[in-house]
Amino acid sequence: MSAPATKAGSFRHVKYLWRDEEADELSGVDRLVYRSNKLGEDLTLTNTGGGNTSSKLIEMDPLTKESVEVLWVKGSGGDLRTVRRDGFASLYVDKVRAMKTLYSSSPERGPKTPIEDAMYPMYSHCVFNLNPRACSIDTPLHTFVPYKHVDHLHPNAVIAIAASVNQEKLCQEIYGDEVVYVPWQRPGFEIGLKIEQLIKDNSQAKGILLGHHGMSSWSSDDKTCYETALEIIDRAARYIETHDRGDKTFGGPKAQPLAETDRKGIQAEIIPWLRGRLSVYKRFVGTVQDDEKMLRFVNSHDGPRLAELGTSCPDHFLRTKIKPLFVDWDPSSLDVEGLKNSLSEALVKYRKDYDGYYQECKRPDSPAMRDHNPTVVLIPGLGMIAWGKNKSESRVTAEFYNCAIEVMRGAEAIDQYEAMDRQEAFDIERRAHCLRRFGRNVCQRNGAGDYRQVWAGNWRRGNRD
Ligand SMILES: [Zn+2]
Repeated sequence: MSAPATKAGSFRHVKYLWRDEEADELSGVDRLVYRSNKLGEDLTLTNTGGGNTSSKLIEMDPLTKESVEVLWVKGSGGDLRTVRRDGFASLYVDKVRAMKTLYSSSPERGPKTPIEDAMYPMYSHCVFNLNPRACSIDTPLHTFVPYKHVDHLHPNAVIAIAASVNQEKLCQEIYGDEVVYVPWQRPGFEIGLKIEQLIKDNSQAKGILLGHHGMSSWSSDDKTCYETALEIIDRAARYIETHDRGDKTFGGPKAQPLAETDRKGIQAEIIPWLRGRLSVYKRFVGTVQDDEKMLRFVNSHDGPRLAELGTSCPDHFLRTKIKPLFVDWDPSSLDVEGLKNSLSEALVKYRKDYDGYYQECKRPDSPAMRDHNPTVVLIPGLGMIAWGKNKSESRVTAEFYNCAIEVMRGAEAIDQYEAMDRQEAFDIERRAHCLRRFGRNVCQRNGAGDYRQVWAGNWRRGNRD
């Protein structure tokens, strides 16, 4: 990955949007905003609300008037495409580094230990210039990277590698020693320290591939950081392209596509009926998708098996739930009553499975079960109907299941798709739910309670990262 003056024109699957004449007009945080917007503009680079960027910049301390190093990192909520200056959290780098002492003083460390949860509120003690923007749960992925700029993204092509059974081997094969593999670990202080060590041990590395999560690039130069991110993603997409299975994607077609008039006619009958069945706890709005890509998946041999495995990336399943409802129906029958019967049976089974998932994975202090109805329904011949409490939520659900399908397509082309571990998925879902709803992880009852009060409002604004 040597860096020529510009890499415009050298990518096939991602858009190169950086313009020196625009960027060079800007400085400091404005350049970071520029870079973030350019990354967010290309939907192949990350999902809505997903990913975050950072720069470590020298600022003047408002109190001492001295120069200090400040980590500007995209805050919680919002989207890279539209983020502005006020969407970034700012933290004193030396104070963030001092958090290490606190962390390492705990006898128990690592994911799921009390100290992990106690570290988040500590970031509020590091805030530079009273900036009210809360930092995201991915902040530790930026904190200890010893480079000025970091781009952390959730691209489908990279997650396809990260959701393959042989993800580590594939990472090595595709990137050699330029990208370091980090197995799945939920974002937290521990993974930040792990990344710091990996960079020390692999000084040639320009980025990381995070199992079941995404990737990061880094550089002391912001444009190079941007280009490295693009290169990591483009390389993944090219590798998938060379292994593309063409007509055999998802095992090839099982059901034949319906004529458009039949498809639209049956959708018009089924969707209001289904909406009534699903809106048990709240009224749902549906987004229908029946383009070629979606129909290829719902009509395929492997679609039901892959859907049943569930989604692999936390960002996706927080909206799509651990798995969609895939109904077994032969569209060539045009039998709408038969479809309603099959859907009714499938719904009973889905709810039972969801109840089983809750019972199997719940902890003694888990919050009550969420609505056990599906948010994604897949029907051969008809496509996908994604549900949400309003139009925009149902659209994001649809977008995220599209991401999940792209991830499965890539992973099955190059290897074999692997879903997220069920207990881990449950714990993440529960944790995100707690943080959103209560501003804290209710399962952790001791220590740092006062700080959580301060952070409650911040977390409530959303923590999709
Ligand atoms: Zn992330």
